[in-house]
Amino acid sequence: MPDDANRPRDPARGLELPWADGAFPPASLAARRHVWESLVGLALHEATHALASGDVPVGALVVGPDGRLLGVGRNRREETGDPTAHAEVLALRQAAATLGEWRLEGCTLVVTLEPCAMCAGALLLARVQRLVLGAWDPKAGATGSVWDLVRDQRAHHAVEVIGGVREYECGQLLRDFFGTRR
Ligand SMILES: [Zn+2]
Repeated sequence: MPDDANRPRDPARGLELPWADGAFPPASLAARRHVWESLVGLALHEATHALASGDVPVGALVVGPDGRLLGVGRNRREETGDPTAHAEVLALRQAAATLGEWRLEGCTLVVTLEPCAMCAGALLLARVQRLVLGAWDPKAGATGSVWDLVRDQRAHHAVEVIGGVREYECGQLLRDFFGTRR
C-alpha cells in the first residue's frame, strides 16, 4: 500500500493488553512467564465457551509482535459441523482478518492444548514466530509430542515453542470434559 503523507497513520490494530512495561515479550524471565500465564488464562477462558455446544474445550489466541490481541478462537467442530474448526485455525483466521493479511510474522499463537498436525501446518503457513501451549497432547500433538512439525529442519522456518504453561489447568479442563461424557 503506498504511503500517503497526508493520510493519518493507521491506528494500531488489535486490542491492547495491559503489559507491564510496553515491551513484548518482557525481557526478564519472570515477567515473560507472567505474560505467558496471563495469555493462557485468556485462552482457557475462551475454551470454556466451547462447552455450551458440546465441543472439546480448547481455546486459542494470537497476539501481534507488540503484544496486542489480534484474534481469538475456540474449538467449534460440533457447533459448526466443520472438521477444520479447531481453535488455532479460527484464531489465525481472525488475526489475519484483523491485520488484513495472511502473514502473521512476529506473532505468537497461544493455545490450551498442543496443536494437531493440521494446526501445526497452519501456524507454519501463517509464519507465526512463537507458540505458547498449555497441555501437551501425547496422542495427537504435532509440535513436540507425536510429531514435531514446527521445529522440523525441513520446515520453512523454526517456531519458538514454550510448552507446559498452566499445564495442569489446561489438562484438567479436558479431563473434566471427557470424564462427564463417559
Ligand atoms: Zn488442530
